[in-house]
Amino acid sequence: TPAVSMPEFVLPLSHEAFLRANRVIPGGVNSPARAFGAVGGEPPFITKAEGPYLYDLDGHQYLDYIGSWGPMILGHGRPEVKRALAEAVETGTSYGAPTLREVEIAELVAQVVPSIEKVRFVSSGTEAAMSAARLARGATGRPKLIKMIGCYHGHVDALLVQAGSAATTLGTPNSPGVTQGAVADTILCPFNSIEAVREIFAAYPGEIAALLMEPIAGNMGLVPPRPGYLEALREITEREGTLLMFDEVMTGFRVALGGAQELYGVTPDLTALGKIIGGGLPAAAYGARAEIMDHVSPVGPVYQAGTLAGNPLATAAGLTTLRLLRDENPYPKLEALSARLEEGLHRAASDAKVPHVVQRVGSMLTLFFHDGPVYDYDDAKRSDLKLFARFFWEMMARGVYLPCSQFEAMFVSAAHTEADIDFTIRAAEEAFKAIRG
Ligand code: PLP
Repeated sequence: TPAVSMPEFVLPLSHEAFLRANRVIPGGVNSPARAFGAVGGEPPFITKAEGPYLYDLDGHQYLDYIGSWGPMILGHGRPEVKRALAEAVETGTSYGAPTLREVEIAELVAQVVPSIEKVRFVSSGTEAAMSAARLARGATGRPKLIKMIGCYHGHVDALLVQAGSAATTLGTPNSPGVTQGAVADTILCPFNSIEAVREIFAAYPGEIAALLMEPIAGNMGLVPPRPGYLEALREITEREGTLLMFDEVMTGFRVALGGAQELYGVTPDLTALGKIIGGGLPAAAYGARAEIMDHVSPVGPVYQAGTLAGNPLATAAGLTTLRLLRDENPYPKLEALSARLEEGLHRAASDAKVPHVVQRVGSMLTLFFHDGPVYDYDDAKRSDLKLFARFFWEMMARGVYLPCSQFEAMFVSAAHTEADIDFTIRAAEEAFKAIRG
């Protein structure tokens, strides 16, 4: 393991909380990446978030580049979202019955996401990807799925192979408990290789229900599609009668209001959404053309359900967030801030002669500790993880909260300012100097 923690950065109250947590929660956390396993040391316990900042139990303030791993594109605590939530609480927190707000958010999603005419809400990105995969199999009557190596679609059994994200970091891409049977119909394919996709289709004619992918990979660090790659996959899948599924849980409403499919002008058959769609509350969704979605129960026979699906609080936060994104169009600002950050990090690393490449699409970016370019998971894995861990802690000590793994993307929010970006770049300059000794 690349465990190199920074001994002078101590968090006594968080440490005590972490010990307590470890007695009753596996690893002290409810999602593995939060345990900081990839960088050594222990996580701060968070007490508050406001704008671009997080605050911990020990009284530190951090500039947040995780944004709850993607959802908080507007920053924390937008007054409009808080107000919508407060109002929603007053009228009840869950009914298990239809509401008008579910229709409003579905209409908005159908309006802005090119591939979606109908959409079903669920409670997590995992559920969205799982349900979309089941629908693809149910709608085509075919068994097999193509999955890109290094892409993550949540902890769905059939997709928990070579899965990137925390699975990469922990070195357990094939989890015990996932049987051979569960992954028997999953075909792995390297990201960004059209040739590999062609070979798979030649080997399994008529058997492949769906090709699943993150159109911009965010779970092996940020890896954009090569020019023409998505277009080629669109053409091949269409010819083969295979559904193209974009997992836009991370990229949806992030790289453009309509997601990567809007940005690149390539329309998939199926789309999974999550993170931003819940505005910081648990919500996710999957959608497609009406003809495909009408295979889902109660219209069609493909079963899928959820006690808290379309929850009134989640739709209040999600709908308010999506409306703000539509009305305020923060995307040009996010692009400018993120380009400034990309340039600053690149300059700082270059000046310190640290081998690196910064890869970015919109407000998602990764500083890889390797010369690059990074086109796929094998490239990403060549990064210097020890150097990453050193950098991570040097930045934490300077009040900058980065993803605690080389295989995750940083997110810039609309609450960040130019001054915040410049603060981050100065911190990076100092961090690289400290690393270089
Ligand atoms: N799909 C992608 C692309 C993701 O990045 C994630 C989570 O990071 C998921 C699916 C799973 O979402 P959730 O953690 O809400 O289950």
